[in-house]
Amino acid sequence: NKYVYSFKEGKKEMKDLLGGKGANLAEMTNIGLPVPPGFTITTSACIEFYEGNKDLWENLLDQVKTYLKKLEEELGKSFSSEENPLLVSVRSGAVISMPGMMDTILNLGLNDISVEGLAKSTGNERFAYDSYRRFIQMFSDVAMEIPKVRFDHLLEKMKEEKGVELDTELDGKDLKVLVNKYKEVYLEEMKEEFPQDPMKQLELAIKAVFKSWSNPRAVIYRKLHNIPDSLGTAVNVQSMVYGNMGETSGTGVAFTRNPATGENKIFGEYLINAQGEDVVAGIRTPNHISELKDMMPEIYDEFIKYTHILEEHYKDMQDIEFTIENKKLYILQTRNGKRTTQAAIKIATDLVKEGLIGKEEAILRVNPNDLNQLLHPNFDQKKLESSQVIAKGLAASPGAASGKVYFNAQDIVEASQRGEKSILVRLETSPEDIEGMVLSEGILTARGGMTSHAAVVARGMGKCCVAGCSEIRVDEENKIIRTQDLTIKEGDYISLDGSTGIVYLGEIEKVQPSLSGSFGEFMSWVDEIRTMKVRTNADTPKDAAQALEFGAEGIGLCRTEHMFFDSERIGSVRRMIVANSLRERKSALDELLPVQRKDFYEIYKVMEGRPVTVRLLDPPLHEFIPNKEEDIKNLAESMSIEYQDLVDRIEELKEFNPMLGHRGCRLAVTYPEIYRMQVRAIIEAAIDIKEEGFEEIYPEIMIPLVGHIEELKYVKNQLLEEINLVFEERGNKVNYMIGTMLEVPRAAITSDEIATEAEFFSFGTNDLTQMGFGYSRDDASKFLDEYMNKGIFKESPFEAIDRKGIGKLMEISIELGKKTRPDIKLGICGEHGGEPSSVEFCHSIGLDYVSCSPFRVPIAKLAAAQASI
Ligand code: ADP
Ligand code: MG
Ligand code: MG
Repeated sequence: NKYVYSFKEGKKEMKDLLGGKGANLAEMTNIGLPVPPGFTITTSACIEFYEGNKDLWENLLDQVKTYLKKLEEELGKSFSSEENPLLVSVRSGAVISMPGMMDTILNLGLNDISVEGLAKSTGNERFAYDSYRRFIQMFSDVAMEIPKVRFDHLLEKMKEEKGVELDTELDGKDLKVLVNKYKEVYLEEMKEEFPQDPMKQLELAIKAVFKSWSNPRAVIYRKLHNIPDSLGTAVNVQSMVYGNMGETSGTGVAFTRNPATGENKIFGEYLINAQGEDVVAGIRTPNHISELKDMMPEIYDEFIKYTHILEEHYKDMQDIEFTIENKKLYILQTRNGKRTTQAAIKIATDLVKEGLIGKEEAILRVNPNDLNQLLHPNFDQKKLESSQVIAKGLAASPGAASGKVYFNAQDIVEASQRGEKSILVRLETSPEDIEGMVLSEGILTARGGMTSHAAVVARGMGKCCVAGCSEIRVDEENKIIRTQDLTIKEGDYISLDGSTGIVYLGEIEKVQPSLSGSFGEFMSWVDEIRTMKVRTNADTPKDAAQALEFGAEGIGLCRTEHMFFDSERIGSVRRMIVANSLRERKSALDELLPVQRKDFYEIYKVMEGRPVTVRLLDPPLHEFIPNKEEDIKNLAESMSIEYQDLVDRIEELKEFNPMLGHRGCRLAVTYPEIYRMQVRAIIEAAIDIKEEGFEEIYPEIMIPLVGHIEELKYVKNQLLEEINLVFEERGNKVNYMIGTMLEVPRAAITSDEIATEAEFFSFGTNDLTQMGFGYSRDDASKFLDEYMNKGIFKESPFEAIDRKGIGKLMEISIELGKKTRPDIKLGICGEHGGEPSSVEFCHSIGLDYVSCSPFRVPIAKLAAAQASI
């Protein structure tokens, strides 16, 4: 078994085995970039480590030693040398990048003797002891789990004693003293001396990286991002280069394009005389990459050259880590950079124009669900101008967030349980804050740059973040924010604008975003490639107009019951329901007819000739009737009937199991006049539209909850009679279609019969799932959570279509339906119609369209385009 690969042996396609970092280090080595040499221990070794007794075994150690020897020969340094020691970094690297989740140890190999050797061979004592104190701290923290604060505390104390502010102001002597103190901490915590044998250090470090795969924050991150626990992490052992050698050295990170906006302009930060995580941890305020141009012009040019090479090689925006050692540049990492959705779209469209990728590739690069970020509201500009500004920080991740401030993840979790919207405020975030970051509306930090933990993670989550807001003082202990003239306490409202970095006092109203620029261009490609249509669920002209703006191609579901709930009409609706005779009911329906007709007329007008599917009344009638004594009294009075009569009638309407009760077409069997009124309104409105010269509408009339061909026949005949009456009365006609919802399993498996009468099927997957599983939609979340916790289900069948069961019913139904009516029109109008994996499924079984809520239209379109690639 080969467990170890040198960087020269690997390539970018070997991510599964070498992890993302290792595979890319190898790739960069092989395309000639200056990467310090090293080797990678495979993910299979990690998996074996967990399968075994969580210890390193001989075969593995032998291979590590062999590669270490090669490294020593290549560099002319040696691991155990006291004069010219080889130092290495030990870096974790999972298959899917997990920023900040796993820990790296730098300067491994140093001990009491070689630190002197390093000082002499470089002539830089300060550097040698700075490296040693970093190593002791990282090793203790990562490999031995000694709390980092114990060391930080000593460093702070030392700076205080010396009257300096920055770590760089401590000299070699100071750091030497510090190293001794660090070793004392180690001794105290571990009851043994700091390990001096480099090989022993390396073994412990490798083990620690393997173990960090299962540390709680890594586990949480994987859960959040659906990364399997079984992948394991690789370990990279790489010779050190030193950014902490003085004023001509440094370390930094850069994105080849702006990760917040996508602008094609390098975006990065660096620190002089620094090492490793210093930039990210925010110990000093980093310089902007453009300053490097003045400070070290040749290095800057060289770096820019590499960014171009890497972008062209990976055909994507890169996130690059680099170190400068005495005016020599090294590249330490590259990966596809995390970005906001706005940036993802801008970058993908730009890359197409630059000829690096094709349109299909661009479409595949954007996660449909992420579009949510873009479609979501921004602050109302007017309200914004009149709001009080608290401070300005870095616009780290765009979005608009209002909420109550809380100062730690736990408090955010509790606030979210109380149903409050919250903003997480921290000095700076760390991986422990992840859960709080997920549940908050936005994140505000006082320290850290654009590449700080808070900024990177927030962008990855699509969460609004203002980072490095140094104008505020955050007192985490007492849970207050102070500015020059303000004190904000826990629970007070603030608002964050992640696009400007401005923090406002109070809650601010939001408005819909405009969708143009690269988004428009991107969506036009989506429309070119997509074959399945996307309609919307809309019950009002306003929703319909909103959906059109988002690109809807028709209405797939117009629910008429919402029109009934309208406060002005509810009186007539109730009179219709409690009516004792057909005459009374008809007179109430006569009142409803003109308002329904007007509803349809307005919707048709907005839709300008696009298809409109109207579903006839579905919910059980008692839903329209009040149940509190006082309300019933008022209703009886307003209808001038006896209170007791009304109570009796309501009692009659009550059902044990309304979901399976008197609803949908069953209502129309009992009271055909209700659907007749509705269909009259639908057709009359369409004739009105036609006669007034607007674009003609082709209504698709949909009968809900059909389970048996005979009930469909009965209801359809009623509709046909009424429609023909209208045609006669008006002396005019319109095209229309009559079809059915497919939501009762019996209908699905008798679809050949159903299709004799139905001209289209629209899958009502909410009810189909409810009745297919026998899970009450309204009660299921109580127990489905448990199914998910116990791993019985991976996701709720109410969220993503259960392909094997409910999906099978759909497939059977399509096959049978097409036997009878080969050109039968097929759609879906359940919630699933806007969920990407369900959309993909709908495409695969050949639906003509999906229908979803207006906000999900672009998401469904993108998912449909991806499904057809
Ligand atoms: P992460 O996965 O958290 O980004 P890395 O393994 O990339 O962790 O290590 C963090 C930082 O440590 C790097 O960005 C780099 O600055 C520094 N580093 C890692 N290996 C070396 C090395 N061989 N020489 C110098 N610095 C290194
Ligand atoms: Mg890194
Ligand atoms: Mg239904």
